[in-house]
Amino acid sequence: NATRLIGKTVLVTGASSGIGAATAVLFAKGGANVILLARRADALAKVNEACVAAHKESGLRQGGKFAAVQLDVSDRKQIAELWTKVPQDLRNVDILVNNAGYVKGVEHVGDISESDIEGMFATNVLGLIAMTQLLVKDFKKKQSGHVINLGSIAGIEPYAGGSIYTATKHAVNAFSGSLLRELVNTPIRVTEIQPGMVETEFSIVRFRGDTAAAKKVYEGLEPLTAQDIAEEIVWAASRPPHVNIAEVLVFPVNQA
Ligand code: NDP
Repeated sequence: NATRLIGKTVLVTGASSGIGAATAVLFAKGGANVILLARRADALAKVNEACVAAHKESGLRQGGKFAAVQLDVSDRKQIAELWTKVPQDLRNVDILVNNAGYVKGVEHVGDISESDIEGMFATNVLGLIAMTQLLVKDFKKKQSGHVINLGSIAGIEPYAGGSIYTATKHAVNAFSGSLLRELVNTPIRVTEIQPGMVETEFSIVRFRGDTAAAKKVYEGLEPLTAQDIAEEIVWAASRPPHVNIAEVLVFPVNQA
C-alpha cells in the first residue's frame, strides 16, 4: 500500500541518473520527501525539478520537500558533513536507498588500474557502508527505518571481465545479509535489490564513455528500465511494517 510512504523522508544516493533518479521521482509521486545525493549538481537539479513536478501531479498535500545534496560517497569526510548540507526538516530520514555505484572497464584482472580498483571499492562498498553506519545510528535510536541496498546479479554470479565489480557487489550482498541478521528482532528493515541488465548511464560509464560499445550490450534483448527497478524499491518500502523483503532478484525476460 503506497499510502505508507506519505510523509516519509527518503535519502537516495546516486540520484542524479538511472535507477536513483527514477526512484527519487517515484517516491516523490507517492508523497514522500526526498534527499537527492550525487556528485553532479546540474543533473541533480533536473531530478529535483522532476520530483517537484511528480509531487504536484500527485495532488497530495503531504510530502513534497526535496533537497539536492552534492556529495561524493567515496569521501568519508564529505559523509561526516552530510547533515550540514541537509535542511533541518529533512534530517529525520525513514528510508535510505544505497544506490550509488558503478563499474569501469571490462579488462582482464591483470590490466585493471589501481585507481579503478580503489574507486569501485570506495564507492560501491565503503561508501555504502559509511552511509549505512551514519543512518543506522539514527534508526536504532528511533527504533524504525529501512536500508535498501542496490546489489546486482553480479553480487551472486561472477563473470569474466568483471572481477572487481563482481567483488564489490558480492561484498554488498554479504554486508546486506549480515546487517539484516544484526537487526533481526528490531523494527528496522534491510532489503537488497539485485537487478539484471538495466539500460542506464551504467553501461556508458562501464565503457568509459564509448556510447556505441555501451549500446551493443543490449543488442538482441530488451533490458530493464530504471523505472522497473524503482518500482521494486518503492514496493519493498511500502510493505506493512512486519514484512521485510530481504532480497529481490529481477531480470529482463531474455536474460538467463
Ligand atoms: P547510473 O550510472 O545511471 O547511475 C549511477 C549513479 O551513481 C549516478 O547518479 C552517479 O551520480 C552516482 N554515483 C556514482 N559514483 C558516486 C559517488 N562516488 N558518490 C555519489 N554518487 C555517485 O547507473 P544505474 O542507475 O544503472 O546504477 C545504480 C546502481 O544499480 C549501481 O549501484 C549499480 O551497480 C546497480 N546496478 C545496475 C545495473 C545495470 O545494469 N544498470 C545492474 C545491477 C545493478 P554522479 O555521477 O552524479 O555522482
